[in-house]
Amino acid sequence: MNHQPFNSWLYEDTPLPAAQAEELRQHLQTCPDCRRQQEAWLNVRHMLRTTEAARPQPGFSNRWQAGLEARRLRQQRRQVRITILALAGAVLLVLLGLLIYFALTSSFADLFASMIGTSTQVAVGLVQIGEFFQSLLRFLPPEVTAAAWFIIASWICSLCLAWVLSVWRISRKGVSSHEELH
Ligand SMILES: [Zn+2]
Repeated sequence: MNHQPFNSWLYEDTPLPAAQAEELRQHLQTCPDCRRQQEAWLNVRHMLRTTEAARPQPGFSNRWQAGLEARRLRQQRRQVRITILALAGAVLLVLLGLLIYFALTSSFADLFASMIGTSTQVAVGLVQIGEFFQSLLRFLPPEVTAAAWFIIASWICSLCLAWVLSVWRISRKGVSSHEELH
């Protein structure tokens, strides 16, 4: 069977004239070889067209850049987190090492005693400061003492009031700016 010119017509990109198209149709009906080739060619052409359609859309490189930036930021954050974790781990290790060192060089009883001693010293210091103020108050005349107490009390009260007011204002501000967003 002579497959030409029908075989080359299969690969024509432009539509064939009506007469040639009819000849080709008739040949394809009688020739399985050319029919197979036509099917294969149609498949390939379809694949080529869908690949063309899947080509990157405009702005793709911008999105790619933005994604890259976000990825880099994420990586940086992860590095910071790892660094913090490593530092915390190092501090914990040092503390553990110190604890082990103390445990090995001195008995736990000694460690406990020294801890108690330190806190006792701090407590004694605080008591001494309190006693100093008490003796100061005792040394002063009672009217001055009362006046001093009054001044201290009002000072503490106004401090508390200022604190409460500022907290209230900050919370109010937070709420109002939150409301402005809506
Ligand atoms: Zn043929």
